Amino acid sequence: MNAPFKNLIAGEWVEGASVNPNINPSNTKDVVGEYVRASKQQAEEAIAAAKAAFPAWARSTPQERYEILKKASDEILARKDELGRLLSREEGKTLAEGVGETVRAGQIFAFFAGECLRLSGEKLASVRPGVEVDITREPVGVVGMITPWNFPIAIPSWKIAPALAYGNCVVLKPADLVPGCSWAIVDILHRAGLPKGVLNLVMGRGSEVGQTILDHKDVDAITFTGSVPTGRKVAAAAVGGTRMKKLQLEMGGKNPLVVLDDADLKVAVEVAVNGAFFSTGQRCTASSRLIVQAGIHDKFVEACVERLKGLVIDDALKPGTHIGPVVDQGQLDQDLKYIGIAKEEGAKLAWGGELLNRETPGFYLQPALFTETTNDMRISREEVFGPVANVIRVQSYDEALAMANDTEFGLSSGICTSSLKYASHFKRNSEAGMIMVNLPTAGVDYHVPFGGRKGSSYGSREQGAYAREFYTTVKTAYTFPG
Ligand code: NAD
Repeated sequence: MNAPFKNLIAGEWVEGASVNPNINPSNTKDVVGEYVRASKQQAEEAIAAAKAAFPAWARSTPQERYEILKKASDEILARKDELGRLLSREEGKTLAEGVGETVRAGQIFAFFAGECLRLSGEKLASVRPGVEVDITREPVGVVGMITPWNFPIAIPSWKIAPALAYGNCVVLKPADLVPGCSWAIVDILHRAGLPKGVLNLVMGRGSEVGQTILDHKDVDAITFTGSVPTGRKVAAAAVGGTRMKKLQLEMGGKNPLVVLDDADLKVAVEVAVNGAFFSTGQRCTASSRLIVQAGIHDKFVEACVERLKGLVIDDALKPGTHIGPVVDQGQLDQDLKYIGIAKEEGAKLAWGGELLNRETPGFYLQPALFTETTNDMRISREEVFGPVANVIRVQSYDEALAMANDTEFGLSSGICTSSLKYASHFKRNSEAGMIMVNLPTAGVDYHVPFGGRKGSSYGSREQGAYAREFYTTVKTAYTFPG
């Protein structure tokens, strides 16, 4: 085994307090690498380094920032196959999905390289004679980032890239389960020429390293992606200290996909199976509630089951695998628990839900599709975060829309229909941050805003030019030239 991968603090790679083996969920005998875990004191040192680096970085030129981000983008894209393989090996999504996510990370860095040069302000006439008003955007300061395991390269990238582009310094704590991709991104940015302390990596546990970032007075902003229960703790800590922090939370979903009688059946089945089960259903935007009109219901269920029977669930790195393993034993236990709950609630298992044995020991679970469910069952209301979805039969579009909105969450929602009238009405009236028509609820572009409403999200949007709302603070300056 090679020496453990270290944390980056103040521009130096440093040993941690302990070591964490990164296990391949397709083969638990395969250790992807050993990654150090930071101590509380090291997290504090990282915050101090970011604070010290901030004044100079905030005044760096857009050209300097552009060049570093562009260089990082070029390297990520040039190494997409190797990094995609690392991602699939540590997280378990298929190689095609891993490479796709890596390409997306490269594109995000290229987009925000351009954004460095596009940041603008406004100049307005004052209501008072002879006075000028300038509105400018400045970086927020030290940004603490806490990320989940399910998009190990894309989510750290869509937080780091805008933070750096707009002149902030960063302390990143990636998910303990998947430190490898974050380590690789930080290494690339470090070698691309970032000044010491601008970007710090502190791998480790949420309860220790994450909590230290949340509680520290010198962290100006927190961007968090993860589950609702952790999000609540993050929010409470972020506003609970002596100084309240700017806050952005992206959390769970129970995303509805409505299928109307007039939908193209082939399109609807593809959209549903992709949205619900690809990436092992481990997407915050997964279509876990399939709300299907009575006239198409039976044909839709039958065609979904046929499609599911044809999917290969196997080692993420194997050619031909459609769905990789669940990420770890804890998540697998949660998936099985909800499969049990759905059965107890009276749902009918139309397909799947069995544990699978493959050549290597891994967390292989057949996608599970439930029918005869209602929207008040726990399987319809709570996020499972695995390859588990349920079909709810409805009589009309109006019933479908009301049911789609009857949830605590509001991240993504979709409709399959050939009717412009229903598509337009759904786009206007669906209570979610992202609406998909004849497209899976998961799968978004990198240059437009991403995020939800209701219980799924808090604060301003991520990605695209909208990211500047979080990573900059507005200053209004008045001048009387005399
Ligand atoms: P999680 O909430 O368990 O962990 C997220 C991060 O928080 C991890 O880095 C973890 O170490 C850290 N953490 C845990 N306790 C902490 C504490 N007390 N203080 C500070 N940090 C702490 O989530 P997960 O299991 O890694 O990810 C799955 C969840 O993420 C799902 O709910 C999914 O819907 C959500 N998610 C949301 C989006 C989105 O954009 N809305 C995207 C991806 C994933």
